[in-house]
Amino acid sequence: MIGPNTLRRRVLILGGTGEGAQLAAHLAERVDLTVISSLAGRVSEPKLPKGLVRVGGFGGLDALATYLGNEEIKVVIDATHPFAAKISRNAEAACRRIGLPFIALLRPPWRMVAGDRWHEVPDFQSAAEFVDTKTGRVFLSIGRQELSSFSECSNAWFLIRAIEEPTEWLPPHRRVLLQRGPFEFKDELQLLRDHSINRLVSKNSGGPATYTKIEAARSLDIPVVMISRPIKHTVQAVETVEDAIARLDHLIHPVSGMPGSLIGT
Ligand code: NAP
Repeated sequence: MIGPNTLRRRVLILGGTGEGAQLAAHLAERVDLTVISSLAGRVSEPKLPKGLVRVGGFGGLDALATYLGNEEIKVVIDATHPFAAKISRNAEAACRRIGLPFIALLRPPWRMVAGDRWHEVPDFQSAAEFVDTKTGRVFLSIGRQELSSFSECSNAWFLIRAIEEPTEWLPPHRRVLLQRGPFEFKDELQLLRDHSINRLVSKNSGGPATYTKIEAARSLDIPVVMISRPIKHTVQAVETVEDAIARLDHLIHPVSGMPGSLIGT
């Protein structure tokens, strides 16, 4: 067990996002909580959140449920990325199985605004099929994990941006750019111009950190193939860090008789 302390409620944050780090920064200051952030370990030099940190998969649903019990976790806050669906489903199911409160934090998706030219698709494969119908110059900004969906695309040319060198199968006509965000609008604009990009593929991640590429595409009248989000939760999610903290506080210091209280746990 990491740093057991029976006077403090032990909260597990499933992180790997800006919101996860912000939550940890707020909650690590508190004397009534012990905060453990969990990272998947996808990047070799992650920015470590405040408080305790564990890294790596749990080993599936059963192992996660066992971990939660062994670590005497009292609340799980799922602050993972909107496209990280497996860990969210496992976490919600594990909490339900052992009767733990589960808070889902999910930032709202981006919405189309005037000037946007979006073609919305349900998944990565559909995006790949759509962009490869033409010999375009495509900015593929979807991270590393789903790049192999595009490996069969032989008509289009791709500018692929990722934090670390991809190990996935890649499309034959491409250039790989290794960069970590956030990215400024003027730099995104320059990047699209420098590579004569005429199509952008993006996940609908939401949030400000990667939105500048969408704004840059809008200002250059470049169409965006926007990949819709998977469904992560069956519970109602909160949208902001502040709301997640308010929900946590409600669980820890409930109005008597409210459902989901931690009294007696
Ligand atoms: P995923 O597909 O939902 O999860 C795959 C497996 O990775 C899970 O079953 C779990 O392994 C492990 N895992 C994922 N998140 C974890 C976490 N926070 N702590 C411990 N184990 C975790 O997730 P993903 O899309 O690969 O994302 C991995 C991480 O990167 C997440 O923390 C997410 O917030 C972050 N991230 C993802 C994206 C994205 O576009 N997917 C973008 C930015 C950041 P076990 O089954 O072994 O427990």
